[in-house]
Amino acid sequence: MVIILRDNPAQKQIDTLVSWLKEKNLDVHIVKGAGQTIIGLIGDTSKVDMDSIKTMDIVEDVKRIQEPYKNVNRKFHPDDTIVAVVPGVKIGGGNFQVMAGPCSVESLDQVLEIARSVKASGAGILRGGAFKPRTSPYAFQGLGAKGLDILKAAKKETGMPVVSEIMDISKLSLFEDVDIIQVGARNMQNYELLKELGRTHKPILLKRGLSSTIQELLMSAEYIMAGGNSQIILCERGIRTFETATRNTLDISAVPLLKELTHLPVIVDPSHGTGNARLVKPMAMAAVAAGADGLMIEVHNDPVHALCDGAQSLTLEAFGSLMESIAKILPFAYKR
Ligand code: PEP
Ligand code: MN
Repeated sequence: MVIILRDNPAQKQIDTLVSWLKEKNLDVHIVKGAGQTIIGLIGDTSKVDMDSIKTMDIVEDVKRIQEPYKNVNRKFHPDDTIVAVVPGVKIGGGNFQVMAGPCSVESLDQVLEIARSVKASGAGILRGGAFKPRTSPYAFQGLGAKGLDILKAAKKETGMPVVSEIMDISKLSLFEDVDIIQVGARNMQNYELLKELGRTHKPILLKRGLSSTIQELLMSAEYIMAGGNSQIILCERGIRTFETATRNTLDISAVPLLKELTHLPVIVDPSHGTGNARLVKPMAMAAVAAGADGLMIEVHNDPVHALCDGAQSLTLEAFGSLMESIAKILPFAYKR
């Protein structure tokens, strides 16, 4: 981090600033030019509040040279993190996984039919929402604890590990048998939730917020990792833009960029990313080509009657066809 001082600061003011910085365990390097004085900070600046320095009278500007995230930064951890979901099911470091299933758990029969079919098509992980974050309070809110019991039964029957979304940390004990805990787009910046999940040893699927930057996503992952949990999978699921022809704008460039910035695995959700079942396969293929470590796909046995997100849900057959296409391009996927 570099602090640029205003013209001709009094030495006393410089001394006060320098001793304040040293109290924060930072080494300072002062460069006095003809008209400008610059202070370089050496050490871990991730905990330094840039804004409070900027408000000081003698400071003209502050620039970060290092990223504000450390644990998730690839610079400090060059090897890919491999998330071990259950024995034999890994994501990252060359391990590609597809998570598939309904948007919402509706009944045991529904989940079982979908689970058996997506497994036969090659999905490794079953998804299903039990606690649903809906825009309208009058829309189906999910089956709650009963939904998690249904997922548990499907896991027992098929052997597939399961992923489901948590919305409130008070429900954490219900997620004991859930293999991956999902933090949805709307909760990406629920920092109390992230801190608590950081204290667990469960794999966490962290979805990018609707209007979140790549750096904000990485800072949210940093919250989880700072708590001691490094089993984090990032998910690009589309962001809000001016475009209304699709539900969101799927940011495929986030995949190679995230993989450059962080060692964590990155997957893509083209279902929420487009909101349109016809666009799911081409965007899934694009995500794979761009180097994603996996996909999350919404699949329903009867999309027309789905209680949630039917328009973006693939039929069982369409999912099988997507998996065939993915298998063809996977060997040619971009590798950094
Ligand atoms: C979901 O995966 O069911 C979901 C609600 O996704 P998102 O948080 O990305 O909207
Ligand atoms: Mn959904």
